[in-house]
Amino acid sequence: TMDYGPAPESADIVEDWLAVHEAGFGHFIDGRFTRPGDTFEVSNPATGETIAQITQGTAADVDAAVKAARGAQGKWAGLSGHERARWLYALARRIQQHARFLAVLETIDNGKPIREARDIDVPLVARHFYHHAGWAEIAETEFSDAKPVGVCGQIIPWNFPLLMLAWKIAPALAAGNTVVLKPAEYTPLTALAFAKICDEVGLPRGVVNIVTGDGATGAAIVAHEGIDKLAFTGSTDVGRLIRRETAGSGKKLTLELGGKSPFIVFADADLDAAVEGVVDAIWFNQGQVCCAGARILVAESVAERFGALLRQRMAALRVGDPLDKSTDVGAIVHPVQLARIEELMAKGVAEGADLYQGEAPDGCFYPPTLATGVEPASTLATEEIFGPVATLTTFRTPADAIALANNTRYGLAASIWSENVNLCLGIAADLKAGVVWINCTNVFDAGAGFGGYRESGFGREGGREGMMEYLSFPAPKPPKADDAPAAIPPAPGL
Ligand code: NAD
Repeated sequence: TMDYGPAPESADIVEDWLAVHEAGFGHFIDGRFTRPGDTFEVSNPATGETIAQITQGTAADVDAAVKAARGAQGKWAGLSGHERARWLYALARRIQQHARFLAVLETIDNGKPIREARDIDVPLVARHFYHHAGWAEIAETEFSDAKPVGVCGQIIPWNFPLLMLAWKIAPALAAGNTVVLKPAEYTPLTALAFAKICDEVGLPRGVVNIVTGDGATGAAIVAHEGIDKLAFTGSTDVGRLIRRETAGSGKKLTLELGGKSPFIVFADADLDAAVEGVVDAIWFNQGQVCCAGARILVAESVAERFGALLRQRMAALRVGDPLDKSTDVGAIVHPVQLARIEELMAKGVAEGADLYQGEAPDGCFYPPTLATGVEPASTLATEEIFGPVATLTTFRTPADAIALANNTRYGLAASIWSENVNLCLGIAADLKAGVVWINCTNVFDAGAGFGGYRESGFGREGGREGMMEYLSFPAPKPPKADDAPAAIPPAPGL
């Protein structure tokens, strides 16, 4: 872990930056910040204070951004991979230089604990740019017959604002595309800080364009005819809408949507490690994680002991001020999300669930919660809560565990806990999930493809698969008669 120094000092730097922009932030289009237009307020969820005025992007703003991206595309794609890599390295290095600033800004805007922003989000962002600089270096040999897709429209959610930006922008640029990205309306600030970084490193104008605004701005990006590819991360409902809107348009599309991931604990698991695993699975980022281990499935024979250990651990979690380095669980991103969590929980209780809850301060906070007595078809077992809430259900046999784990309309991630690696690998193959972690959870690597099955979306981000989503390949030629494979001779004796 890097040493970023004391948080309060960084908070001052962030406050100075916000003060300079008191009149409001504009978009970043064609290498310049525009004047603020009609603005909306963005607040710090932990305090409720307004921290910035953000411009609501219009269709005309989106059009200007797409034109800038189009204007820059040919030149950017025409650079050698090595030349593009130099820009990606420069962005990565500059992110590291501004790591403290970015971590504090993310925490103030999103409500996540500073420890997570500092040790997880920002280092992963830098790593993603470094990794993709590597892909740019070797793109010409690894994907010799491929071309960039063109202008990419990218729409991201509020749970990992800067990290989701990195997942979108780094591969797009490495592959020779230009982008128009819209951050989520609750958390646009680190995307604007990233725009400043693009400006500082002198990235060619128009390669990265950031347009802020709400769903209407997103819809304008989706509808724009100048967009060649759309990459969306967010709710399944909006993902479904985008798929409908783009049907027949010829736009390439990837969707990273919701989840309700299982966390399976076998009787021979190291239970203390599995309890720490639950902390990472569902109390990381207040549970606002698409691949959160929200459904704990535990072997009946150890369920009581595991439940007791878990409750003991929950009592020690500190919920509160996200800027305090000892905070484990910060603020929920926005009162609207908090109300949504509370509504789902009230429904769950009405359906018969029992809740065990830790402590949380007043305000936009929700306590770590364990729900038991949850029927498989009930609200808490099926709906994505996107909050610090896990359900606890028992199973008897590995086959039961697999059936329960797969009993969901999602298929993003899963995690398996057992000291028997053969059992884990066998179970992993039977789980319908894009990512399966064994004796760990929520581990992300820029080199490994991430994405879902079923209602969790399609397409992959990260690694080779992620690069392929930003490239177009010539259609395979139909085989000629004399290319036909030789008939396979029958096996002897058949
Ligand atoms: P959301 O779908 O409401 O918003 C996501 C983004 O889409 C925002 O930028 C928003 O402004 C924009 N948007 C909203 N309506 C739009 C429209 N009609 N057209 C175009 N863009 C539109 O989701 P959210 O509430 O911000 O995020 C929470 C959801 O995202 C959860 O369901 C979570 O599971 C999912 N998520 C998935 C992943 C993943 O990698 N699969 C990662 C993070 C979050």
